[in-house]
Amino acid sequence: MYYSRKRLMDDLPEEVTAIWSCTNEKCNGWMRDNFVLSARPTCVQCNSFMEKGEKLLPVLENANHKQSK
Ligand SMILES: [Zn+2]
Repeated sequence: MYYSRKRLMDDLPEEVTAIWSCTNEKCNGWMRDNFVLSARPTCVQCNSFMEKGEKLLPVLENANHKQSK
């Protein structure tokens, strides 16, 4: 059934996630805070500075554990 796949997507839990977004208003680049290694990240698309924010995103199960230990 086609429904089962869509159902699965709908069931993905979402949470407010810390992200960095590009300060360049012509660019919509952003990245998850989990993936940022620098204290002052720059945009991978345009190299502008990024500012911290929040976004509602599907939960990534293993993202948090990548860096720890
Ligand atoms: Zn950018």
